[in-house]
This record gives sequence, C-alpha cells and structure tokens, in this order.
Amino acid sequence: MTDRAGLRGDCEQCFGLCCVALPFAASADFAIDKEAGKPCPNLRGDHRCGIHARLRTEGFTGCTVYDCFGAGQKVSQVTFGGRDRRTGSREDARRMADVFPVVRQLHELLWYLTEARALPAARPVHADLGRALEQTEALTRQTPEELGRLDVGAHRQEVNVLLLRTSELARAGIPGKKKNRRGADLMGARLGGADLRGANLRGTYLIAADLTGADLRGADLIGADLRDADLTDADLTDAFFLTQPQLNAARGSAGTRLPQSVTRPAHWTARL
Ligand code: SF4
Repeated sequence: MTDRAGLRGDCEQCFGLCCVALPFAASADFAIDKEAGKPCPNLRGDHRCGIHARLRTEGFTGCTVYDCFGAGQKVSQVTFGGRDRRTGSREDARRMADVFPVVRQLHELLWYLTEARALPAARPVHADLGRALEQTEALTRQTPEELGRLDVGAHRQEVNVLLLRTSELARAGIPGKKKNRRGADLMGARLGGADLRGANLRGTYLIAADLTGADLRGADLIGADLRDADLTDADLTDAFFLTQPQLNAARGSAGTRLPQSVTRPAHWTARL
C-alpha cells in the first residue's frame, strides 16, 4: 500500500524528467520558452539543476513551485528499470518523456486517495478508497506501452466520484453553514478574515486573493488555484486535498497554520 513518503519528488532517483518532459513558456514563472521533450538548458549532465539555488532570482519561480508527487523516480527506476535517459536508446528517452506526465497524474491521485483513506469521517467509503488506491498503484506499474495507451482522464473521473463523496463526509462534521465556492472566480477577492470553515473550494480560482487571517479549517481545496494568494496568518488546520505545489505557489507567513500533510514553503520566510 502506498504511503505519502513515496509521493514526493526524489530528484536523487530521477533522471531530471520534469526538466525534460514538460514544456514551458516565457512568463513571470519561466525566463525562457522550452518545448516538451527537450532538456532545459540549465539541466546538468548529472541530472541536477545548474541554477538550483538561484531559481527565483533567475526567473524560474515555476520550477520552485513544482512537485512530481514521486512520478520522476517511479518512471526512472521502475518503468524504465534505472536505464539512464541520456545513455539509453533515443526511443526510451522519448517514451520516458511521454509517460512521465501520465504517471504524474496517477501519483497525484495516489496523494489524494491516501489522504482520503486517512480521514476518519470517510470511514463509509474506506473500502472503496482502498480498492481505488490499489488499482491506481497498479496502473503506475504498467509498461511504457500500456501507460501510453492509458485513458488517464477516465480514471481520474472515476476516482473523483469517490473523492467528492469523501469531501461531503469530511465537511459534514464541521458545524455551521458551509460555503460552496466550487469553481468560482475569486481572483483577487478580498477574503481577509473570512469564515471558510468546511468550505467547498474545489477548483476555485483564488489567484492573488487576500486570504490573510482567513479560517480555512476543514476546507476542501482540491484543485484550487492559489497562485499568489496571500495566506498570511490563515488557518488551514485540517484543510484537505491541499498539495505542496498549490502551497508553494501561494504566499504565507510563519503564522500560517498548515495541515500536517504539507510543509511550510521556504520562500514564505526567506529574504530574497
Ligand atoms: S531551471 Fe532547473 S529546475 Fe527548472 S527546468 Fe531547468 S534544470 Fe529543471
């Protein structure tokens, strides 16, 4: 069974796949354009980033936000059995770049399912969650050919039904009227000090929203876009389906209270 330790990127065990497989466009997050499948010019021969300590100051903030949920080491060490991307065949290198985004999506689902199964309120669906967890883990262990044919969107939809039920069960135990802002456009909204306990914030656009001092205890944050949202002194205790990349993209402080599943981003308190 999966535990969360394996669902965080381990760059030591990866052949720099995110720096090769993913495309990016010159923007506030990336200093340059890069095509999918092409190695980033900053990637060194040892698969490490040549500007790791200077990513933010060199205009690569997007790289500091990203996490592969452990898909990089899975593809490098399991799917391709430790065959190095650079010294193996060109076909292997191409397929590695193709399957990495698929496995990344599956690992993100493993993250949510593992969290869901740990929620006591989700007990009525624990057995279903366990089956979905096993099934998803099995999918990640398929061959590159099988992964290439996988309809990962369809699998996501199936899992999402279970995650929705989990969310309803978990939020039902929180007293008071819960706000439903699912998918809402709250970009730049002034929500300082707002009572968002047990709120449904699934897929909510909270880009640059002011959430300073907001009460987000027990809120469902799956897919919420928190880029540049200000979480200074907000309370996210027991908020669920929050991922490290979401948090990394937000702003916050030493006073922001976080669920145990994530860590406080270093840039929240660092002086750049
Ligand atoms: S800048 Fe560094 S971390 Fe970002 S894609 Fe390039 S090599 Fe990878």
